[in-house]
Amino acid sequence: MPELPEVEVVCRQLSPLLAGQSLQGVGTSGKSLRSFSGRPQGLSPLLGQSVRGLTRRAKNLLLIFDHHQLALHLGMSGVLSWCPGRDSPPKQSVHEHLWLVFDRGLLLYTDPRRFGDARLIDGDEAPSRALGVGSSGLEPLEASFNGEALNRAAQGVRQAVKVWLMRGDVVVGVGNIYASEALHRAGIHPARAAGRIRPERLARLVHHIKEVLEEAIREGGSTLRDFKDAAGVHGGYGERHRVYGRAGQPCLSCGTHIRRMVQAQRATYYCHVCQR
Ligand SMILES: [Zn+2]
Repeated sequence: MPELPEVEVVCRQLSPLLAGQSLQGVGTSGKSLRSFSGRPQGLSPLLGQSVRGLTRRAKNLLLIFDHHQLALHLGMSGVLSWCPGRDSPPKQSVHEHLWLVFDRGLLLYTDPRRFGDARLIDGDEAPSRALGVGSSGLEPLEASFNGEALNRAAQGVRQAVKVWLMRGDVVVGVGNIYASEALHRAGIHPARAAGRIRPERLARLVHHIKEVLEEAIREGGSTLRDFKDAAGVHGGYGERHRVYGRAGQPCLSCGTHIRRMVQAQRATYYCHVCQR
């Protein structure tokens, strides 16, 4: 599943390609996405508008047009590809659900599982409001996400820290892999109640969340089965996981076997010696 670093990588790659181009056409497969009806008319207000820039909010890629914003979410299996010089998809496959025709090429959205989305937002509307509670938390790479803020949010919270981090209303975009990895680096047990972690340990956790996300962005995102970045190249972060997907293998810090458990229907990997 594409997580924040993957979306950030796609954003950085597409920004110079799309900036300044105007939208000439919209094509769809006719199949719906999470909230998108599948009808090209749903995006027709964007026709003729130029892309002023691209940014990211949580795991949404935001195309900022003259008078609107378009939020693209890659869901579980979405891939964005830039096809220069084209005005129709290269080879029609059943999983190509949306394409945007620009002056100099085509932005193609492919998504076998159709959990992704395309949402039109008014130009002056705050994306964090429009995109719902799962996108309302702090941006993890911004300075406002710090030990003090996390400690304030944790007061009285009895929920397990990993589940709490992934809710999206405290901090956005800390998905399953990065939550497991950051908690291991910070030495915090994933099942510990968030409200029972000392402020200095929460500050360390903030440091390591930023660290794992920045490493993944530098390496182009995790290597997951179905993730490709905008240019269709697989990312390389996967080989660096210290706990994620390594159940039964030795902890790289202490040699103890990594354990796996399920929290809120998601697999958590941890070292029961290093993480308390
Ligand atoms: Zn260990």
